[in-house]
Amino acid sequence: MLTNYHTHSEYCDGTATAAVMAEAARKAGFSILGFSSHAPLPFRTEWNMDIEALPAYMKTIRSLATTHAPAMRVLAGLEIDYIEGYCGPSDGRFKTTGLDYTIGSVHYVMPKGAPRPSATSFDPKGEPTFGFGVDESEAEFTVHFEAYYHGDGESMMRDYWTAVTACIREGGFDILGHIDLVRKNNRNQSLFREDSEAYRAAAMVAVDALKGTGIIVEINTGGMARGKTDSPYPALWILKELKARGVAVCINADAHAPEHLLAHRDTALRLAKDAGYSLITVIGPDGRFEVPLE
Ligand SMILES: [Zn+2]
Ligand SMILES: [Zn+2]
Repeated sequence: MLTNYHTHSEYCDGTATAAVMAEAARKAGFSILGFSSHAPLPFRTEWNMDIEALPAYMKTIRSLATTHAPAMRVLAGLEIDYIEGYCGPSDGRFKTTGLDYTIGSVHYVMPKGAPRPSATSFDPKGEPTFGFGVDESEAEFTVHFEAYYHGDGESMMRDYWTAVTACIREGGFDILGHIDLVRKNNRNQSLFREDSEAYRAAAMVAVDALKGTGIIVEINTGGMARGKTDSPYPALWILKELKARGVAVCINADAHAPEHLLAHRDTALRLAKDAGYSLITVIGPDGRFEVPLE
């Protein structure tokens, strides 16, 4: 059963309209497609949806649900940023939106010296005006990593995992997005060693925090689809630890374009099997259930 709960569109930083994404998903044989635009933040950015667009977003998704029923169920979700000290999925900003599910994600950490968000945190020239995005483009990342972390990759990875752990503990969402996104700009292990005791220990605090929460962890192929990583998030060893703790998983494309919907799904399936999973969790219009891996 093909499902995907991590879909972007022109409502945020996706390249296609929601209608084009839905059409492509149905043609590819998906049973359930969930949209997850980057949720509006309390301040403006280039890649998050503006709060004013939320009613139109919901209307569009509900209309696509009608168009594609019964062949494919279309669900409305949001990918909500956890930003330490500013906002997170638990703050209830979208409680009355009528969403079917939410993804909680950490993209930003708040190192000392990084600009703090404000109501006007938006620079049309594209310069980040708050915090530090661990998944920034390589060029931006290099500059900001040097400015805020002075080459100290271990501090950055610790800040990242601390934020992920806090996001999990505060809860208020269904699916945890790209749990180890901090790997994205660490392709050659140039910032920190992913096989080090320090990295493992930092990640394990988050892994342990997931046990018993009911949060689903996504196996995310978006980094691979965009040529940023050689394997899905999470790394196999993390997935094995999650399996040992009974944490449920789903497979998500983090699609920003139609061609991402099925990209590297075979790799994600293999990873799930290698970690010992035989079931994935599905969020349907009437709740959750488990299905065998495709
Ligand atoms: Zn994300
Ligand atoms: Zn995403």
